[in-house]
Order: sequence, then structure tokens, then C-alpha cells
Amino acid sequence: MKRFYSQWALFLVIVILVPFESGLCQAKRNIVILATGGTIAGAAATGTQAGYTSGQVGIDTMINAVPGIKDLANLKGEQISNVGSQDMSFDIMLKLANRINELTSGGNVDGIVITHGTDTMEETAYFLNLTAKTNKPVVLVGSMRPSTAVSADGPLNLYNAVAVAADPRAQGRGVLVVMNDHIHAAHSLTKMSTTDVQTFMSPLRGVIGVVAYGKADFYNMPPWKHTSESEFDISGVTKLPRVDIIYADADMSPDPIDDSVKSGAKGIVIAGVGNGNMNKAAVDACARAVKAGVVVVRSSRVATGLVGRNVELNDDQLGFIASDELNPQKSRILLSLALLKQRSPSDIQTLYMTY
Ligand code: ASP
Repeated sequence: MKRFYSQWALFLVIVILVPFESGLCQAKRNIVILATGGTIAGAAATGTQAGYTSGQVGIDTMINAVPGIKDLANLKGEQISNVGSQDMSFDIMLKLANRINELTSGGNVDGIVITHGTDTMEETAYFLNLTAKTNKPVVLVGSMRPSTAVSADGPLNLYNAVAVAADPRAQGRGVLVVMNDHIHAAHSLTKMSTTDVQTFMSPLRGVIGVVAYGKADFYNMPPWKHTSESEFDISGVTKLPRVDIIYADADMSPDPIDDSVKSGAKGIVIAGVGNGNMNKAAVDACARAVKAGVVVVRSSRVATGLVGRNVELNDDQLGFIASDELNPQKSRILLSLALLKQRSPSDIQTLYMTY
């Protein structure tokens, strides 16, 4: 009799507990898709032409075009904007961050997917990495081919993004980008090709994981601060301080630096040559900018590597900030948020080492 009961107990463990533990019986998660436009929502007159218009298709049409996506999660779509991401603005980014904070603060939403153009996806991802106050997964996704193209990449990217957002293991890794089977951290990815489907890379840090047909594998936990641990607070913010990016090259003119100060910039990011360098005339113009109260950050036009303090330029003497791992476009995002309140140059330098 005893043996009979213990066999029953074993049977119940296998039939009831194992499927729950393995996730087979997990309740479907609630994912909200916030749509902003981009090529993933783009359309062309034919399936094989290069020319197309971004941001033409609405979110419900996009969801309905992906077979099986509704099996992954309970989905709800919201249209935030419908623009090519070359027209992405701080207004839309603020709207997105506020909406994510609203949606994720309650118990009804388990994760967020944002459809977005690829041109400025890294800026929005990084902005949200600093301003979305949640541990729940926030995943950006786009495509390189419009929805009407032969072999469009958008549907599978969207399917994978929903799968990652619905995966509890995606939690606590900061804002993620899912493109072409790769999962990237907002901090590290950058667009590397103007046209390739495999455009995003995280050259210095590598990918966070991979996802194939909705099955994800996570390799890395980002070590920098983000999302729920971030000190940046955009509640009530309607405008960000002006920060300009100035591109350095051989024999550059210092005029754009002086013009930027005259035009009221509060910060300047130099997309420097090599390790955030610039010629003597530009260094002098940046030193003038610092004297006028403008924060100068040295980043690099090179796609990978660090920009270190006091390497070929004496940042301590000149009052410059080194961008560490951040490229110019992400350096601009961090500086715009940093300048929302009064901070010393050394505090700003610390932000670049921390976020
Ligand atoms: N220009 C498009 C955009 O960023 C490119 C894309 O989405 O791939 O919206």
C-alpha cells in the first residue's frame, strides 16, 4: 500500500510539477508593443525595389502579419508615432519613456517591445536604458527591409523580440535590441552597415545573447548601471539642454565649435579622431568653450575602442570629459540628461564610467 502511494506521489510530481518548473505551463505573459515607425513599418510599390517610405504600416497590421506571434504572449499594440527614425526626436523619446514607466509600474504588463527605425535605434535604446524605471524587459526591434520586400526581415525580428520580452531571463539586463537573431545591450550596440540585414554589432562587449525562432539563450549580464538603478529622472521634463556633436577630421576648422557655443549649446561632444583627438585649433576652441561654461566631451569617430582620460590630451588641465565606451551619439544622450541638473566635471566624468 505504502509503495502504491509513493508511486502516485512520483507520478504527480512528474505530471504537475515538471511542466510548471520547465516553463511548459507558464501563463502567457502580457506584452505591450509600442510602435514608432521605421523600415519595419515601411512600404514600397514592389517587393524588389530599393526605394521605400518608412513608417507606413500600423502596429495592428504588423502584428497580424506575423504567424504564431500571438501564441508567444498576450499582445497589445499602441502607436506612439510613425516616423522614419531619422526623424526621431527627444519629444518622442520622452513620450516613450513616460509611457513605459506608466505601463510597467502596474502588475498587468510583463514586458515592452518597441518597433523603431534602425538609423537612430541605438540613441533611443540608450536613452531608455537611462530613463525607463523598470526591471521588466524592454526590447527594441526594427528591420533593414520594408514590410513589402521579398524576404522582409521584420516579421521574424518582431517574433523574436516578443519572445525575448516574454522571457523572464531577459529581466534586469537593461534595455535590449533584438535584430537578426542577436540580442544586444543598449549600451554597446551600434549600427555598422547602411544596408546589410546584419547591421548591428556590439564590437567591444559582444552580444547579450541570441534568439532563434523565439528560443533565446542569454550569455551576458551588462555590468554598467541602467533602468531601475539609474539616477536620471525625466518625470516633468519637456525639453533637454542643447548638446551638439562636432565631427573631427584632418585639418578641421575650429569654427563649428565656436559657433556651437555662440548658438547656445550647453554641451559639445567631439567625434574625435583616434582616441578622441582633434587638432590644435580645435583643442583651443574646446578650451574656450569650457571657459564659457560649456561641457566638452571627447568621444571618437572610430567604431570601437575606449576614449581614455589624459592620454594624448591633458583633460585635467583642459577641463574635458572622456567618453570611455560611449560613441558620439550615445555620449550626446548621456550629456543631455546629465545637464538637466548642475554637476561638476568630475561628477560628469563618473557618469561616463558608470552608465
Ligand atoms: N531610415 C530607416 C529608419 O531608421 C531605416 C531603418 O529603419 O532601417 O527609420
